[in-house]
Amino acid sequence: MRHGSIPGAHGRVRPLSLLGDPVLHAPCAEVTDFGPELAALVEDLFATMYAARGVGLAANQIGEPVRVFVYDCPDDEDERHLGHLVNPRLVETGGVVVRGPEGCLSLPGLEAGTERHDEAVVTGFTATGEPVTVRGTGFFARCLQHECDHLEGGIYVDRLTGWRRRRVLRQAARASWSRAADVPEGTR
Ligand SMILES: [Zn+2]
Repeated sequence: MRHGSIPGAHGRVRPLSLLGDPVLHAPCAEVTDFGPELAALVEDLFATMYAARGVGLAANQIGEPVRVFVYDCPDDEDERHLGHLVNPRLVETGGVVVRGPEGCLSLPGLEAGTERHDEAVVTGFTATGEPVTVRGTGFFARCLQHECDHLEGGIYVDRLTGWRRRRVLRQAARASWSRAADVPEGTR
């Protein structure tokens, strides 16, 4: 980001990919070109995340199957974490495993108790190719794990079992945004 600029101010709000869209359910490609198109993608991700009132957004959620996500997310101490990561790798998780409410802009209006580690460390790069390490705890650690899952083609529903999984998929099938015919077998 240039000095004084607000993330997303130059971005375009893009349509969100929803549950069942194949782009959400396949691994994303490594970024190799750290040029202006990547900077524009990061801006679009921020603009779309803020428009949808999210705390994190992965590139495949706007139809771009590349390894990039953005976040503007509080932790459990209400400290704000704002940034983006290119080619992120979840290198460490730790602490207790906590089941807490988790939602996703690709399943609007729904949430389910999902187990996540309380601590997460992610390494990656900025849009200009500088290496970065991001450490999160609490809700921000949950966000980092959730966004890393997206880039592997996963969604939080994949981590649910039993009645929690059945309930959120039933709610998704009934939701106004749902195209139930497109929900892949594995996520029913
Ligand atoms: Zn999500």
